[in-house]
Amino acid sequence: MNSSLSQVVARAVERVKRTASGARILAEWLGEGGKPVDRTVAQDRIDVCLRCVHNKPTQAASIEKTVAEAIIEQEQVRNDMSMILYGEGNAGTCDVCGCYLKLKVWVPIKHLDSSGMPDSCWISRESKSV
Ligand code: SF4
Repeated sequence: MNSSLSQVVARAVERVKRTASGARILAEWLGEGGKPVDRTVAQDRIDVCLRCVHNKPTQAASIEKTVAEAIIEQEQVRNDMSMILYGEGNAGTCDVCGCYLKLKVWVPIKHLDSSGMPDSCWISRESKSV
């Protein structure tokens, strides 16, 4: 990630954290500390998802109301912070973990569970290397 883009995201994270609701949303999305991974890492991850058979279109009707509300909140923050990735329009929901991929790819690996994920998944790969 080029350093100016990194700084833009870092500044945006700090700005959002200054509000109580922003800090809560970041912590619920990104785990304790509310800090996303670097944009190059998120892009590499979503590139793997885009080639994966488990990436399925998101079925809004099948998402629980509370989960849908959390996704909407987190998506608003993600857009505010310009955390947009190439090809993300084709990223849906993972049919293994059930997660909304545009949000998940920004989460630090220490907050993700690799159990049950296929060997080809970036979560399995990264979990083995930490
Ligand atoms: S299994 Fe892994 S790579 Fe495949 S869609 Fe799910 S999170 Fe992405």
